[in-house]
Amino acid sequence: MDKQKSAKKKRDALLLIFILAGAAVLALVFFFMRRGSEPENVLIKVDGRVVYDDSVIKDNTFTVDGFDGGYNIVEIKDGKVQVTEADCPDKICVTSGFISAPGETIVCMPHRVVVEINGGGTATDAVVR
Ligand SMILES: [Zn+2]
Repeated sequence: MDKQKSAKKKRDALLLIFILAGAAVLALVFFFMRRGSEPENVLIKVDGRVVYDDSVIKDNTFTVDGFDGGYNIVEIKDGKVQVTEADCPDKICVTSGFISAPGETIVCMPHRVVVEINGGGTATDAVVR
C-alpha cells in the first residue's frame, strides 16, 4: 500500500518536472524570439491607416501621401528612418530628424502621418513608460 503511494508520488513529481521543463523551454523560446535578431519594423500610418510596414534594415525611399493631399518623403537607411521632405506648413516632421529606437515616432500633424519604429515587444513598454 505504502509502496504504491510512493510510486504515485514519484510519478507526480516526474510529471511536475516535465511540466516545469516544458514551461522553461517555452519561456526560453519566447525570450529568444523577442530578443533575437528579429529586426524592428517601420510602421507608417496615415490617419490611423497602416500604409507601410516593413523591416527597418531594408533601405527604402518613398513618398507617403498625406491625409488630404500633400506628401512626405520617407527615407529608411542604415536602420534609421527620416522624413527628408514634405510640403506641410510646419515641417516638424522634417526637422524631427532620424529615429532608430523602438517606440520613437515622427509625426506630421497637417498630413496626419505617423512614422514609428515598432520592435520586438519593446514598443509597448516605451509607450507605457
Ligand atoms: Zn510635416
